[in-house]
Amino acid sequence: MPVKKAKQVLTECWDGLLPVSPQKIAEKVGVSVRAAANNEPYSGKAFLENGIKVIEYKSSEISLRQRFTIAHELAHHMLGHTNEGHKYREFQDDVSKFNLREADPFEIQANKFAAELLMPKEAVEYLIMEKNITSLEKLAELFQVSTVAMKYRLINLGWLK
Ligand SMILES: [Zn+2]
Repeated sequence: MPVKKAKQVLTECWDGLLPVSPQKIAEKVGVSVRAAANNEPYSGKAFLENGIKVIEYKSSEISLRQRFTIAHELAHHMLGHTNEGHKYREFQDDVSKFNLREADPFEIQANKFAAELLMPKEAVEYLIMEKNITSLEKLAELFQVSTVAMKYRLINLGWLK
């Protein structure tokens, strides 16, 4: 379900260029993305404001982290988690590693969505099979994700054990 939704969003809103810009995609689907106030303790938030879907991210964090945060918060909106007015707030450690062992099912879904959005399965396979790019560091650089996130992704797609 979350992966299917991410694929749908990619099909409709992604220009096909790497790295995927979660901010551009969020804006295309009508989600407002902005930096949080400096004193906010959270890496990211997803909430409704006057009926508008809003994502806030911590702009003092490194860009790789911001990208993941925006993709993860976008998932909460796109998967309907914020429909009832629920707010999502993420601390840094929650969103760092595409960690699928997380207990909360909504967080697992959000991480699966974010992984597919930032590292589309077809793009990963294209780079590995057609471009012969097998270096973890190189792939992480192309997708602009952390090597840890890239490693999880390759494991989940069956390219690494
Ligand atoms: Zn979350």
